[in-house]
Amino acid sequence: PNEMGEYDLPPDQMAAMIGQFADNGWINIVGGCCGTGPEHIRAIAEVVAGKPPRKPPQIPPRLRLGGTQPFTRHPDDNLLMIGERTNVAGSRRFARLIREEKYEEALEIALGQIEGGANIIDINMDEALLDSQAAMTTFLRLIAGESAIAQVPVMFDSSHWPVIEAGLQNFQGKGIVNSISLKEGEATFLSQAQSIRRYGAAVVVMAFDEHGQATEIEDKVCICQRAYHLLTKRIGFPPEDIIFDPNVLTVATGIEEHANYAVNFIEATRQIKDLCPGAHVSAGVSNVSFAFRGHDRIREAMHAVFLYHAVRAGLDMAIVNAGQLANYEGLEPELRQRVEDVLLNRRPDATEQLVEYAEGLQHQTKPNGEVTEAWRAFPVHERIQHALVRGIIKHIEQDTEEARRELGHSLAVIEGPLMDGMRVVGDLFDAGKMFLPQVVKAARVMKRAVAYLTPYIEAERAAGGQCEPAYRGRILLATVKGDVHDIGKNIVGVVLGCNHYDVVDLGVMAPCEMILQTAIEQSVDLIGLSGLITPSLDEMAHVAQEMQRRHLDLPLLIGGATTSAKHTAVKIAPLYEHPVVHVVDASRSIGVVEQLIGTKTRELFEAGNRRLQDQLRQSFQRQGTKKLVPYAEALANRLTSDWNQVRIDQPEFTGVRVLRDFPINKIREYIDWSPFFLVWEMRGKYPKILNDPKLGNEARKLYHDAQQMLDRIESEQLLIAHGVLGFWPAQSLGDDILVYEPAGSPAASGQVTSHQSVPSPRDGPIGARREICRLHALRQQWQRRGRGEFFSLADFIAPVASGREDWIGAFALTTGIGCDALASRFEAEQDNYSAILVQALADRLAEAFAELLHAQARNHWGYGKDENLTNDDLIAEKYRGIRPAPGYPAQPDHTEKATIFTLLDATRHTGIQLTEHYAMYPAASICGLYFAHPAARYFAVDRIAEDQVHDYARRKGITVPEAERWLAPNLAYEPNGSS
Ligand code: SAH
Repeated sequence: PNEMGEYDLPPDQMAAMIGQFADNGWINIVGGCCGTGPEHIRAIAEVVAGKPPRKPPQIPPRLRLGGTQPFTRHPDDNLLMIGERTNVAGSRRFARLIREEKYEEALEIALGQIEGGANIIDINMDEALLDSQAAMTTFLRLIAGESAIAQVPVMFDSSHWPVIEAGLQNFQGKGIVNSISLKEGEATFLSQAQSIRRYGAAVVVMAFDEHGQATEIEDKVCICQRAYHLLTKRIGFPPEDIIFDPNVLTVATGIEEHANYAVNFIEATRQIKDLCPGAHVSAGVSNVSFAFRGHDRIREAMHAVFLYHAVRAGLDMAIVNAGQLANYEGLEPELRQRVEDVLLNRRPDATEQLVEYAEGLQHQTKPNGEVTEAWRAFPVHERIQHALVRGIIKHIEQDTEEARRELGHSLAVIEGPLMDGMRVVGDLFDAGKMFLPQVVKAARVMKRAVAYLTPYIEAERAAGGQCEPAYRGRILLATVKGDVHDIGKNIVGVVLGCNHYDVVDLGVMAPCEMILQTAIEQSVDLIGLSGLITPSLDEMAHVAQEMQRRHLDLPLLIGGATTSAKHTAVKIAPLYEHPVVHVVDASRSIGVVEQLIGTKTRELFEAGNRRLQDQLRQSFQRQGTKKLVPYAEALANRLTSDWNQVRIDQPEFTGVRVLRDFPINKIREYIDWSPFFLVWEMRGKYPKILNDPKLGNEARKLYHDAQQMLDRIESEQLLIAHGVLGFWPAQSLGDDILVYEPAGSPAASGQVTSHQSVPSPRDGPIGARREICRLHALRQQWQRRGRGEFFSLADFIAPVASGREDWIGAFALTTGIGCDALASRFEAEQDNYSAILVQALADRLAEAFAELLHAQARNHWGYGKDENLTNDDLIAEKYRGIRPAPGYPAQPDHTEKATIFTLLDATRHTGIQLTEHYAMYPAASICGLYFAHPAARYFAVDRIAEDQVHDYARRKGITVPEAERWLAPNLAYEPNGSS
């Protein structure tokens, strides 16, 4: 050849040379270049005439993939590892980086997987609020510029075809589509497979068909076989490019049918490899150990054992956290045996045994035992993380100091180890591996560390150093004017705080003016409003209106017990042109805030929110006054009793009885614990929740802390309980309840106050009594399916016309005196966990006191004397009578509390105050009425029409707009003068 690598030969010589090549079977295509012409071709043709074309060597079919480097799977190769961390659904960190468009760091995660041994990386961008297609495209294009990452093949993981296609179009090598299945029938399946073929990719086929997911061996095998035949026979898909995933399902769930899931997978793998020659099998391993979330050592052992057995059955590849795989041989023998018992379903108590073992492991890291301190030997960064995740406060100051010295700058400690640790906490919480109490405890550790650093930060600031930590945003939180409840808001504050938001908390009863003023002065990024009682809804609407008037553009978050997505959409969002978002749970707030503060994500989130609110408004409008009957008709169809027959018992006293300083130790026996766990967003019935496979551990700890706190409250008298209850003669008139002055009666106690001589209650006309006040009830107007009556609380009291004498009771109580002071004390010690715990317990005690008092009331009333009920029976309301509270569904009007308070002289007797919006302060207070009618029950007044509101206003002696204001959430119409 010449220096260009070309042969510059005359035709005969060239033909001779090519002839030699051809004899050796080296060549079968001949081309010419400049200088060659017809003569060359003719000469060559002559020489090769009759010689057989080259036979390509027989290369056995192999799964061949590629990034910039080719990748071939040989039959004897080890398990192929697919890195799972580049998945927004599986890794909170990756999700956050993508959302915040920190692609640089996201790429590092991919690199980390490759360095950890991943042969392929799985990329998943499926998240509701993400433009997944764009994210997939961007990420793949960035990968192309990173040679270390670009060298490996990619798995495009999505359940949306367009996202998969975006992956296929933006990847230069040969990747794998994850996944398609027969879920939507053969036609879709084949057409997608054909597309994939055209793009030249391999494919994962999940063992799903039209009937759903295969869990049993036969179904898995059958579906995969069917898919195999369709792919290979119908469209000529190469078998080696087919990868089956026969569904890794979770074992050790406590459900018997799940016990064999791992065995089913392994056995199905064996058969599929047999029956579908050339095809491969893959597994998404982490699913198998899902029941042991939070127990990383157990999970890693389960993965190792699972893979060990599955590989022996022919498993080719697995989606794993590369770099975090344990070695089967290296597992501690007892652990391995117990894990094997579970996975291979070798004994009925295998799960219990493993759970026991897992708990044993946990105890080793409890702060009380000596063994625990192993983590003290970790590097300081890890120690701080450990302390945050476990909520251990004991060494945090010492560790913080060490980190400060190491890093030489106090802010660096916050932004380094502390924030990193909180990020881990956030990730674990999001992944369902940690629960709210743990997050709040982590925040306590964080706060303690920051408090320790504060003097140093100040000194550094004085010396002219960088002084403000870079917060992710500033959030104003407030419970609105007239409302006093703030547990939920406090939890939100803690969760945001430990996610590095600067939280400005205005506490309770915050007037609109103060909220807006603060928002402007402190240039916050977002306002969050909270409220428990219905009048707060109006107040929130007012704040929204003011925000509009003053041209603010901050997003507004709405939360709290009384709020709803619908109310927010219908009544608040239309008043303010910027995002108004309803947040259900404290834990949800963090995601919402993140999206609303990121400028890129805000738009997308806003659009989704608007769509949702449009729908809610439409559904509200459709409801209108449909299905409501006129008030007169509802009244005519009241719940009637045969007043000659109804049993009416006479209370043993009338007038009030006061219980001051009621012992907490008696009250606590009546606590209903299930709602306590709900405050911490742990759903489940007590006591079952204590043994829940997922929540049990944390529930037990929380319960233990609560009991300890109650012991303290009791022994140090940190909370004071006062109550008052009373009975009065009463009759109903329409929807009013007339309450008469107490009369002396044979059974009356000394506390009865009677100023008038009245006829004997048994026979005299009760109308002769002096009416001391009038309670007002509301009546249902909505037609309930299959029910002819429309309820009102007045129906449970004998009407004047019946001539019978009846009685009504009332009560008010608080267990919240001292609560605020105590909570503030804890807050001052950076202990929000205890502060929230105290508030939640005060609420629980109030409900318990209400239960206790109600039992006493039934006793005084006589009919409850031979009740023999357990606390569970009480919680299940297995007694006669009810104690409806104003503001609740049977009487949604909070202003009725004023009447009850006057009747009981409640403020004097108990110290409870009513705010301008009829919230009770202290927050842990309850008031209500007692009805003894055997048919009395709770119900919901729900939506009412204008005719009733007019009548109600007249009866109460207030104007219609005023009535409409208090009843706003119940109006089935748009009030006229509404502003
Ligand atoms: N064991 C629970 C009970 C409290 S909630 C706990 O500890 O939390 C139950 C109370 O709410 C009732 O006793 C009543 O006072 C009020 N309530 C519930 N439904 C009501 C309704 N439809 N109308 C009026 N009050 C209602």
